[in-house]
Amino acid sequence: MKIEGHTVAVSGAGGFIGGHLVKNLLASGASKICAVDIKPFDEWYQLVPGVNNLCLDLKDKENCYQAVAGADLVFQLAADMGGMGFIENNRALCMLSVLINTHMLMAAKDLGAQRFLYSSSACVYNGDKQKTPDVIPLKEEDAYPALPEDGYGWEKLFSERMCRHFEEDFGLQCRVARFHNVYGPHGTWDGGREKAPAAICRKVLEAKLSGNHQIEIWGDGHQTRSFMYIDDCVQGIKAIFESDIHEPINLGSSELVTINQLVDIVEEIAGIKLHRNYKLNAPRGVNGRNSDNTKIKQYLGWEPSTRLRDGMAKTYAWIESQMMVEAGQWVA
Ligand code: NAD
Repeated sequence: MKIEGHTVAVSGAGGFIGGHLVKNLLASGASKICAVDIKPFDEWYQLVPGVNNLCLDLKDKENCYQAVAGADLVFQLAADMGGMGFIENNRALCMLSVLINTHMLMAAKDLGAQRFLYSSSACVYNGDKQKTPDVIPLKEEDAYPALPEDGYGWEKLFSERMCRHFEEDFGLQCRVARFHNVYGPHGTWDGGREKAPAAICRKVLEAKLSGNHQIEIWGDGHQTRSFMYIDDCVQGIKAIFESDIHEPINLGSSELVTINQLVDIVEEIAGIKLHRNYKLNAPRGVNGRNSDNTKIKQYLGWEPSTRLRDGMAKTYAWIESQMMVEAGQWVA
């Protein structure tokens, strides 16, 4: 199926990935888009004109019916989430996103939507498979036996299964993408919900601007991750949505780096060297995580491929512009 020409609902549209997705769907010919988020409009990362933007709490069932009414296709990206600092300290809030997923699925089924995409996460994977930094990339089957990230990961895994059973029992076509660490412009970069790429850009910029050439790193810096640039994420979401992939599938980069290497990259972009202070008791997540892209390559003949250095340069430049706007040095 092609997205073009269809009416679409995007939930979580005021957030990072949702904002980029709405912009892309509009440009690529979705006939009508309803974009929904709980945040007031002035807090949306991107408020796209030409779209029916709604401010609704999607934990509430009635609001989900309002959001989905008239849409053939549903992209469910709303979740109460953030980086490790948020997830490890707000497990109950993360689990309450089950209300959003449950009610959005019910609305999509009852209102006859043709297809539903759920934004799952690499946090569903069994923690025992992520104990060392030299991790073996995670294959889709590594989610079971289940031992996901406490709180956030359990909710994601449960909601994945709800999608599966809504498809099996009610015939609602569901697609489930397991995102691995997404980064890029127009994402969260301060306030406590930011993730490592944005947090490191901000910290390097703060050090550069203040002249205090030090940086605090969460953990020992040896933990490994892969990071997917936002443009790859949006392309992957659309391709998975249009595909016949009925099982959950990884959507992530397979370019593995340590957090220290990520800091090296940002230092190089900034043209600075900083003294590193390691905060060993800070939230740090698993020791190692990478995406096995065998399946997505088989299905789509494609995988996320933006080089981390290139994506980080764009992200750094955008965060720098935001900091300048906040400091009143640039006009927004
Ligand atoms: P984000 O926090 O920027 O966007 C999520 C949006 O959902 C926010 O704007 C938030 O206000 C909205 N939301 C929260 N509760 C809501 C409610 N009750 N009703 C309506 N809207 C509500 O996060 P993101 O990075 O854009 O992530 C989008 C989706 O992708 C989420 O489901 C997230 O769990 C998943 N994901 C993201 C990443 C990543 O690295 N960014 C990784 C794995 C999975």
